[in-house]
Amino acid sequence: MSSELPQSKRRGIPIVVSAASGTGKTSLCLKLFEMLSNVTRSVSYTTRTPRGSERDGIDYHFVSDQEFDRLVQAGEFLEWAEVFGKRYGTGWSATVQKLDEGLDVLLDIDVQGGAQIKTRLPDALLIFLLPPTMEELARRLENRATDTPDQISRRLREARREIAQCGLYDYLVVNDDFEKAASDLRAIVTAARLQAARPEIVQRLLTFQPASQRPT
Ligand code: 5GP
Repeated sequence: MSSELPQSKRRGIPIVVSAASGTGKTSLCLKLFEMLSNVTRSVSYTTRTPRGSERDGIDYHFVSDQEFDRLVQAGEFLEWAEVFGKRYGTGWSATVQKLDEGLDVLLDIDVQGGAQIKTRLPDALLIFLLPPTMEELARRLENRATDTPDQISRRLREARREIAQCGLYDYLVVNDDFEKAASDLRAIVTAARLQAARPEIVQRLLTFQPASQRPT
């Protein structure tokens, strides 16, 4: 039997995953969803426009600058930040509701957001994904063929700035081998779940009464 309690018995864990662009964060997060149950992702608000097949309300809540301002003023964000000239934010109420339901919530956000979450939700688990080398990161960005050489240089500068902040995070996972990185991620979440479930596990054992001693 698994020593993890049913998730409904405890509050969910906010799981922040950050990485420089080109590290493989999106694929690793998708893999994590495949491997684990009781985890959901937070749908952020952004002022950038949808790309490709992205859908409003599913990939992001796409909002105008005015609407984003209104949400900031109304205190609707758990955290927000400007990334590559656009604003992104995590909604308070939707996130807290999912956590209260016992679901772990994956927040795919940048390091500025990670720092805010660490202050506001001290029980959050912060994981930073790293490329094996900067050469490999540059090679991955070039292979994506979506950016101009100038944009690639800018992303690499930005990557250095983000990686310099990784000391804030609880765990670093190097994405050299995809399967290994995915299994490291799963191990980290499993360990955090066991830690969060500790009080309930102990309580369940200590409050056990044999059938013969239960009131009739
Ligand atoms: P993209 O525009 O490529 O989807 O995302 C750009 C960056 O914004 C990524 O590093 C992503 O993790 C980050 N991001 C997405 N949503 C949020 C959010 O709600 N808050 C913060 N701080 N960063 C976000």
